[in-house]
Amino acid sequence: MIISIVGGTGNLGKGLAVRLALAGYNVVIGSRVDEKAKAKAEEYCKLCGCKIEGLSNEKAIEVCDVAILTIPWENALDFVKEHRKVLSKKIVVSPIVPMVKENGFVYNPPNGSMAESIANILGDKVVSSFQNVPAKRFSNLNEIPEFDVIVCGDNEDAKAVVMEIVNSIERLRALDGGPLSNSRIVESFTPFLISLALRNGMKELGLRFV
Ligand code: NAP
Repeated sequence: MIISIVGGTGNLGKGLAVRLALAGYNVVIGSRVDEKAKAKAEEYCKLCGCKIEGLSNEKAIEVCDVAILTIPWENALDFVKEHRKVLSKKIVVSPIVPMVKENGFVYNPPNGSMAESIANILGDKVVSSFQNVPAKRFSNLNEIPEFDVIVCGDNEDAKAVVMEIVNSIERLRALDGGPLSNSRIVESFTPFLISLALRNGMKELGLRFV
């Protein structure tokens, strides 16, 4: 299975790329700039000792089975609209958190939730996941990520594929979060976690249900 990470040159993309490559997946990282994707792929390969390919975002989504969109929320709907034809054939994972900084961090969904807005364009193979994973800790391979990852979606087959991907990463635990409409709850948790950390002198909080 090929997993492409759109905008995989960024904070969350790095952790996903190296950990999914270590789990045995064929990983491609995408960028708006081909050379940047190639340079970052080389850097990530050195970090984890696995093969990771760097391509333009356009090529990355063409070659994959699963596309994870790790791009800023402000640009995500334009990207999805532009690439609707290709992306609607794939399983598309949204880890995207629409958030603004206004007296702390505030959840700011375009319409219901980011994942639902994407599904309105692409159809039911959109799955929401990874929103509550703190990227810097996740990309540090010296840390074992003991996080729960909630997975929401309306297509049970697509959701099962994404849960398997999550569970393939050592110590992550996928939890079935129900339909895609529950993504608004999961997305809204991230600004709360950031504000909670700031108020309590903590950093990069993740979730674990016990
Ligand atoms: P980031 O590092 O700021 O950006 C990720 C990548 O997005 C960049 O490397 C860039 O890649 C690409 N990008 C920037 N502007 C773009 C545009 N106008 N159009 C298309 N691509 C653009 O972001 P991040 O922190 O990794 O977060 C990525 C997504 O994951 C966000 O939606 C965020 O809400 C979500 N998320 C983040 C975290 C976290 O802890 N950071 C945790 C959970 C979820 P190129 O320049 O190479 O194209």
